[in-house]
Amino acid sequence: MASITMNNVVKTYPDGFTAVKGIDMEIADGEFVILVGPSGCGKSTLLRMIVGLEDITDGEMRIADEVVNDKAPRDRDLAMVFQNYALYPHLTVYENIAFPLRLAKGKFTDQEIDERVRRASTLLELDEHLERKPANLSGGQRQRVAMGRAIVRQAQAFLFDEPLSNLDAKLRGQMRTEIARLQRTLATTTVYVTHDQTEAMTLGDRVCVLRHGEIQQMASPRGLYEQP
Ligand code: ADP
Ligand code: ADP
Repeated sequence: MASITMNNVVKTYPDGFTAVKGIDMEIADGEFVILVGPSGCGKSTLLRMIVGLEDITDGEMRIADEVVNDKAPRDRDLAMVFQNYALYPHLTVYENIAFPLRLAKGKFTDQEIDERVRRASTLLELDEHLERKPANLSGGQRQRVAMGRAIVRQAQAFLFDEPLSNLDAKLRGQMRTEIARLQRTLATTTVYVTHDQTEAMTLGDRVCVLRHGEIQQMASPRGLYEQP
């Protein structure tokens, strides 16, 4: 687990457009922060700068008190879940979840991998589906496998980019409950981008409203609701 701190973080794209205009934000160890705001306000850009997929033009990004501005994504020890959770179709659920650990060649023994995969699959209620292929799973089960891949790494923080936006309303509700339960169990620092009001108001400890690359409001869901 780790805190995430931004000091005057700026992103100007090569075409000269400044998408993020000097953001100061402090996310505590174990905190769950939701990023909301209209399309184009800079949510994805901010998330991508935390993960390291996008360079920071100015300012400072710290993870667990360490400046990561020049650190490659693979050295940041973060786990990202996208809306288009690309699972490997030819691999079983078990191997899909194990994949990030197998990728870190030699770092984990088969026994360690097995323990981690089984812990994640129990947490996500995937125990009965470990030998199946993604094509034979429901949308919600596939999304859970994608989360399993994030959990299994025991990363310092989770980053979600609209993870539920491709699911139907009923599944979204179920997965929302699932994510809330996971957060209570794992208490991992989380930054979560969404368009969905219900997700914003029910999942986060705090909600950050972005507008034109600036923080318009940042408060608890209740505090946000009570502000004019
Ligand atoms: P959001 O995720 O809130 O929809 P984005 O972070 O994707 O917003 O984009 C913020 C702004 O930056 C938008 O105006 C978008 O057009 C612009 N933008 C995103 N990526 C690039 C890029 N590679 N080059 C130039 N402008 C970009
Ligand atoms: P989202 O709203 O989910 O961020 P977008 O359609 O805005 O999705 O962006 C999809 C991809 O296109 C991203 O990789 C983003 O960086 C890039 N992009 C977005 N806007 C621009 C832009 N104005 N110029 C170049 N690339 C862009």
